[in-house]
Amino acid sequence: MEHIKENLQEINERIAAAAEKSGRNPSDIKLVAVSKYFPLEAILAAYDCGQFIFGENRVQEMTDKAKVLPEDIRWHMIGHLQSNKVKPAVECAACIHSVDSLRLLKRIDRLAGECGNKPDVLLEFNLSGEDSKFGLKEKSAMKLAEAAAACENVKVSGLMTMAPFEAADDELNVIFGGLRELRDRMSSASGLVLPELSMGMSGDFEIAIGQGATLVRIGTAIFGKRDYQR
Ligand SMILES: *Cc1c(COP(=O)(O)O)cnc(C)c1O
Repeated sequence: MEHIKENLQEINERIAAAAEKSGRNPSDIKLVAVSKYFPLEAILAAYDCGQFIFGENRVQEMTDKAKVLPEDIRWHMIGHLQSNKVKPAVECAACIHSVDSLRLLKRIDRLAGECGNKPDVLLEFNLSGEDSKFGLKEKSAMKLAEAAAACENVKVSGLMTMAPFEAADDELNVIFGGLRELRDRMSSASGLVLPELSMGMSGDFEIAIGQGATLVRIGTAIFGKRDYQR
């Protein structure tokens, strides 16, 4: 597990360097260590180096891990949520990045009122136009902003997006810059404060930071290659 410590240190240095390069404060960028498919020991190795935020994309895996790992870990749900898994996700998560429908937003808000845990919520947009990906369409943004302003229990604190895996740098700049501009338009239209931009993964987080990312979701570059057979 020594490699995790070294990787984490290197990633934190690269985050700080990317922030400084664009005149930002490194402490404004939070690292979500994406631990999906990785075992408890890997998470604990990162935790022992001071990493407190971990991202998972399957509810069952997140809640199983949360049960046995330190209570001060903050779990971020980053994967698509099926409606029958919303309740356990709301009960466990500190933040849900992947809210991709009006229905899901309303359901999360209601369940948060019932269970008492009130995760922060991010609205996931698909700005690359890929059909295969989850995410809201840009044209639904103002409707979602209105619904977000009307939430009674959860705070909608920003937007999230995923870029295509094979995108070139200029396309990444367009997508990540586009999410920032969309956030600005939604804020001024609705009066909502939307400080968080969740964008950037192992291969593209430096570009995302240049475009204003406040949450970067990094797995492979910390933990290594995932074994999806597990
Ligand atoms: C798996 C995953 C990541 C992390 O991807 P890496 O390339 O391993 O850094 C980030 N965001 C989401 C939504 C993911 O599912």
